[in-house]
Amino acid sequence: MRIKFWGVRGSIPTPGFPGDIKRRIKEALIESFKLDPHPDRLDEFIERLPTSVTSMVGGNTPCLEVTHENHRLIIDAGTGITGLGIEINLHHLTKELSKPRPSPDGVSPPLRPIDSDLKPQIINLLLTHTHWDHIQGFPFFRPAYQPENIINIYGDDAALIEEALTVQQSSPRLFPVGLKNTGADIRFHTLTGDEMQIGPFRISILPLPHPGGSLAFKIHAGNGTMVFATDYEFRDGAPDANQNRGLLTKFLEKADVFISDTQYTYLENLTKEGWGHSNPIKVAEMALYSGVKKLFLFHHDPYYSDTKLFDMLDMTCAYIELLHPLNNLDIKLAIEGQVVDL
Ligand SMILES: [Zn+2]
Ligand SMILES: [Zn+2]
Repeated sequence: MRIKFWGVRGSIPTPGFPGDIKRRIKEALIESFKLDPHPDRLDEFIERLPTSVTSMVGGNTPCLEVTHENHRLIIDAGTGITGLGIEINLHHLTKELSKPRPSPDGVSPPLRPIDSDLKPQIINLLLTHTHWDHIQGFPFFRPAYQPENIINIYGDDAALIEEALTVQQSSPRLFPVGLKNTGADIRFHTLTGDEMQIGPFRISILPLPHPGGSLAFKIHAGNGTMVFATDYEFRDGAPDANQNRGLLTKFLEKADVFISDTQYTYLENLTKEGWGHSNPIKVAEMALYSGVKKLFLFHHDPYYSDTKLFDMLDMTCAYIELLHPLNNLDIKLAIEGQVVDL
């Protein structure tokens, strides 16, 4: 099973922060003084720089791609799904790309050939919930505009999900194309029961406490198991907090990878009780006790710079090291474009 992060930011898309490029250049130059790199070895030098210098954490809102043996699941339709949609279309061409066709009116941009030369496909999209940051990329998802395509959308309530997606495309004043007019055959499904099978993926669900609700997914394929739990809060003092934490801890058993909401620092989380999000300290404790191998911090706050996110990662690792010096938990930041094999 392979996971690719197409969107890792929570709440709103986050293009970047003023000053971040200067900070990266400065840190790279400081490192270069230590190493005295020869110009021919610059690529090698850049590879040795810290991830916080060479990688942007990413600004697109949530979208994951999970693949196994030529089968694909998509989870959530934040703005990250737009890039995935283009890549899906490029991989389903019936013929080689030729020169872009001229536009019919000669005024608007040339039509891109990728939308008319595609093989039909069935796309399966799981939605954790329909808060805007998890569906706002769907109007720009190019495979939805292929009449031959079938798009199955799964979530906690088919009718409410259809309503939410319809509303965001309900008027030309919001978006020029209505959901019913995109072209593809879009089918909505309610997830019921504890477990379902889509292709090679065995999927379990767990409802999470979040304003309006959210679903965690546990996905098993081949030899790998991952859990994706975003947008949830176990508020200290809430009557069901311990019970909900226990349910997720049990849900995590035997997971190789846990991708979790950790929107706020521990301290900020205390000031934002009831906002429906988690912090990396509590999440890492849970990951440690449930025995998962790798934890990815996800749903990054849009007001946190990359520097702050890497600091948050360092503090979380240091805390877990103090708590359990012999732990084997590998903690990482979810970074847009990153691929995880398991
Ligand atoms: Zn969210
Ligand atoms: Zn939410």
